Amino acid sequence: MSQRKCVSYRVLVGMEVHVQLSTKSKMFTGVANASGALRPGQAPPEPNSAVDPVILGLPGVLPVINRRAVEYAIRAGLAMNCRIASFTKWDRKSYYYPDLPKNYQISQYDLPLCGEGVFDLPLEGGGSRPIRIRRAHLEEDAGKLLHEAPGGYPIEHSIVDLNRAGTPLLEIVTEPDLTDGREVAAFGAELQKLVQYLGVSEGQMQMGHMRFEPNINVHITDQDGQVHKTAITEIKNLNSFSVLEKATSYEIARQIREWEQTGSLGRKSTFGWDDSAQATFLQREKEEAHDYRYFPDPDLPPVTVDDAWLERLKGEIGELPAARRARFERMGLPAADAATLASSRAEADFFDQAVAAGGSARRVANLLLAHGRRLANLKATTMDRLGIAPGRVAEIAAMIDANEVSASGAGGLFDRLVESDAPARQIAAELGLIQVSDSGAIDAAIDAVIAANPKPLQDYRAGKQSAIGALVGMVMKSGRGLNPKLVQQRLREKLGG
Ligand code: MN
Repeated sequence: MSQRKCVSYRVLVGMEVHVQLSTKSKMFTGVANASGALRPGQAPPEPNSAVDPVILGLPGVLPVINRRAVEYAIRAGLAMNCRIASFTKWDRKSYYYPDLPKNYQISQYDLPLCGEGVFDLPLEGGGSRPIRIRRAHLEEDAGKLLHEAPGGYPIEHSIVDLNRAGTPLLEIVTEPDLTDGREVAAFGAELQKLVQYLGVSEGQMQMGHMRFEPNINVHITDQDGQVHKTAITEIKNLNSFSVLEKATSYEIARQIREWEQTGSLGRKSTFGWDDSAQATFLQREKEEAHDYRYFPDPDLPPVTVDDAWLERLKGEIGELPAARRARFERMGLPAADAATLASSRAEADFFDQAVAAGGSARRVANLLLAHGRRLANLKATTMDRLGIAPGRVAEIAAMIDANEVSASGAGGLFDRLVESDAPARQIAAELGLIQVSDSGAIDAAIDAVIAANPKPLQDYRAGKQSAIGALVGMVMKSGRGLNPKLVQQRLREKLGG
């Protein structure tokens, strides 16, 4: 029988995230950024085609800093409220592996470009929780080692594809402020939205644009009130949110179970995730920083960031998603709608423009979230590229608010406006969507229906309230485009009187 019992526990998870930046060229050379700049649906280039003497680590070549990559990293840092270093440098992280032929990775060791910051993690019920950012630095990605030939041919040796080597990477490290698998996955998803919003990464998980490494340990309180802290384990290279959640939850439970069964707090080590076993597995005991022999790269000058540059980059970012979300809520949108619209820069801009053109905020939001998104999905594009101007959406919104068109008729109108430049009112009329709000016409329709169908009226007078629904339905069917609200209102007045 076990003497150890976990009575309560506290989970501490810190995250390391590698984000591929979507610059045109690689981090330290002008060759195409074949991995980070690849968009969904785009075919990857031939293996080893995005390669040059710098990527190959040939003698006599020198790296050149990609200014755009530095700017993207600063943008992300600013958005996470980081302190941006006015002076930063580059370091070599030595290791021997064929995926990076020069045998070191250029990274930033003691002077990261972005220092302490805070990421506001939105909570499901509204509000947010601050997750502290320890640092974010720039480095280069490695190539890919393949142990199976493309096309499934057996091979006797491993082969390497260096297209990914030298891709600009932003490594973001958080403090251990996350507390369970769900929150870890939510953090990943919010960070994805942020880098996409900022336009610094395509952020496609299945394309490896973002890789997550949760660092996990647990403070266990036993039956005597003693606290036992497990050793930190890191799960490497997770690139889906569901796996991120599952692997983190598994590792938390594994650490507690191991302590209860053996009394061991484990050792600092690295784990992988085995998807077929749905379990983490030990890869190696964790290496220490000194194993990498970090030293300043003599081939690269330091980077100085002055205030003017910083101010310009702040201007490029504009309003951040969190501020936008809050503003949309103040405009009267429900929290969920505000969050959805604010998470995409293109959609948020479109919404702002439609409201500026005179549409009421809630009506415009409803139109965009229902019909704009539906059409964009259908056409595999984004709302701003559908071909409908924001002012036209404002027109539809105004027609619904004026009861000229029903909210249910708006979808058809929206679809047609995407294809036509004619005025919205004209198209609505062509589609038979203009509602009859003339009370004379409505009264005549009501009288005709009642005269032809005395039964529902008798039922209603006998106390059957629901009979009015049947009457409304009959009146609506008898004439085209009658305003249902008015039909109901006039019917009640007539029957009540
Ligand atoms: Mn790294």
